[in-house]
Amino acid sequence: MSAPSSASDARVLLVDDDPDVHALVGAMLKPLGVTLVHAMNGAEALHTVRALPVDLILLDHDMPGRNGLEVLEELRADGRLSRIPVIMVTGSDSHAVLASCFAAGAQDYIRKPFFAAELRARVGSALERQRLMVELVGAARRDRLTGLPNRAFLLDQLTVAVRAAKQSPDAGFALMFLDFDRFKLINDSLGHDVGDLLLRGIADRLRENLRATDTVIVGDATTTVARLGGDEFVVMLSGVSDFLTASAIADRLIRALEPPYQLGPHLVRSSASIGISCNSGQYDSPDDVLRDADIAMYEAKSRGKGCWVLFTDTMREAVAHRHKLETALRAAIEQESLTVVYQPIVSLEDRSVDGFEALLRWTDPELGPISPSEFITIAEETRLILPLSEWTLRVACAEFMRWRQAMGSAAPRYISVNLSRVQLGDPGLLDRTLGIVREAGMLPSELQLEVTESQIMANRVTAIAQLHALRSAGVRLAMDDFGTGYSSLSCLQEFPLDVLKIDRAFVANLSRGRDFAALVHAVVTLADNLGLEVVAEGVEEVAQAAMLQDLACKYGQGYLLASPMPAGDVLPWLGHEVPTAGVVPIGTATSHTSDANLLVQGRVA
Ligand code: C2E
Ligand code: MG
Ligand code: MG
Repeated sequence: MSAPSSASDARVLLVDDDPDVHALVGAMLKPLGVTLVHAMNGAEALHTVRALPVDLILLDHDMPGRNGLEVLEELRADGRLSRIPVIMVTGSDSHAVLASCFAAGAQDYIRKPFFAAELRARVGSALERQRLMVELVGAARRDRLTGLPNRAFLLDQLTVAVRAAKQSPDAGFALMFLDFDRFKLINDSLGHDVGDLLLRGIADRLRENLRATDTVIVGDATTTVARLGGDEFVVMLSGVSDFLTASAIADRLIRALEPPYQLGPHLVRSSASIGISCNSGQYDSPDDVLRDADIAMYEAKSRGKGCWVLFTDTMREAVAHRHKLETALRAAIEQESLTVVYQPIVSLEDRSVDGFEALLRWTDPELGPISPSEFITIAEETRLILPLSEWTLRVACAEFMRWRQAMGSAAPRYISVNLSRVQLGDPGLLDRTLGIVREAGMLPSELQLEVTESQIMANRVTAIAQLHALRSAGVRLAMDDFGTGYSSLSCLQEFPLDVLKIDRAFVANLSRGRDFAALVHAVVTLADNLGLEVVAEGVEEVAQAAMLQDLACKYGQGYLLASPMPAGDVLPWLGHEVPTAGVVPIGTATSHTSDANLLVQGRVA
């Protein structure tokens, strides 16, 4: 509903069976400049308001046929017409009549015979109230910053569109969910004013590009561009339910949104990731269409930003599976039903056990065993990783102390626990870690924390500061999976480290030729120069262990040396207690063996 900007733009409908009244009211309202339209009875009035936008109705109470009250009730019952203000016109003095008019929804009344000044005052004030009302409703449905329709507006549009598409597949539509790369970074680093300018810039480009140039939006099809909040924008293409048209438009939008924005003195780039859902009648609610476009948008983001992705059923299944995992993981953490297994880190020279790496395991009663890489990703995305890591650290430290109590100085030197990138961003990391170490009765130097290069690079400044604090407190630090991330050798100098763990991909390639051996040799030499210990991960074959030893790599970890084992197996495996059936002790911190075959037997299935 659009509001007249002044009374002179307004259209007033007069409903009265007396032609003289029409002439009189016309003359009296002339100075207001309103457009007066006429109806001689109720039926004609209803026909007119359905055909024409009307801002105010002057409605005679006493008419033959449908009387004024009946017409008013019909207006109020019609969703589209119920908000048109009505002034009842009556010759009656009866309070009961006036009361019934208000009860039926009239805003005001005026008595016959008319006084010109009074009629103009009542009409003028009713129109002004109506104008303010429409303005208020309009403002509540617009985004103040960009002037685009907001979420409330879009949801109304979508509700109507979903219903229409259900009734007729021709009335299908496509919905695009847009998210902008680096918006948060721009907001945080350059300030909210610059962030606001960017959002306005984006809105302008969307408006420009979805206007005249788009042939598909002529005719019945319309385009709605809305801002949902933050950097989330939605484009709704009514009448476009085929994927080809939608994708052509998405391509064009991505190109249009790619060039940098000049925001005051800053030149800023922020490409869009677009998720598309096409509806040809299969959706029941606007939320479902939005959700699917959002899922596709996340997929687009994960494929490297600046691209679009069409929602598919496979994506829905993946999301449902993930949701199930998340719920199960939450419950498992609460019930402490995850477990920790321990894998030895062994000297390649004399096979003595140097330390153990703690690794999480989770078997859901319904879903079966879930790999750490899968559930740790979910735990990180939901920040469940924080309580989970704290629990893991507590369990691992307690286990380490059990070995220490049983074996005294012959126990492994340290316990190694993996850190998550989320923990690196947690300001409480140092205190919490030291608190757990202290509670367990350990020295900080008996704890090793493993981080990967990509975890550090994700938030480099904060991560390096956290690592420095941990290392200053005496905690050992290991670079995990070295060679899979940025592999920038120069970075090694910058990170406070004690240990470098060479990723298993390098080890697996060792037998493939001299180049790989040379690479490992270079890494070992560099680590040596930097004073770092080197551990080779994923040692699976006797030949690999031998080559690594030749290349001066001091420590190894892998199935050949020992698989990760449950807590209860560690002491027997170390030869401290009577070994359980099928497990042969292969080495302890003090007893050495170089028989690789024995090591193979020592694997715990
Ligand atoms: P990671 O820290 O690099 O751990 C080594 C992974 O290699 C473990 O996989 C281990 O079971 C596996 N492995 C050991 N020896 C061999 C071998 O000879 N060959 C092969 N192919 N693999 C070997 P897992 O336990 O599946 O863990 C995968 C990753 O999940 C870990 O990689 C680590 O990044 C993460 N993770 C595991 N537990 C935790 C945890 O408690 N906290 C955090 N934040 N991450 C964890
Ligand atoms: Mg690790
Ligand atoms: Mg690793």
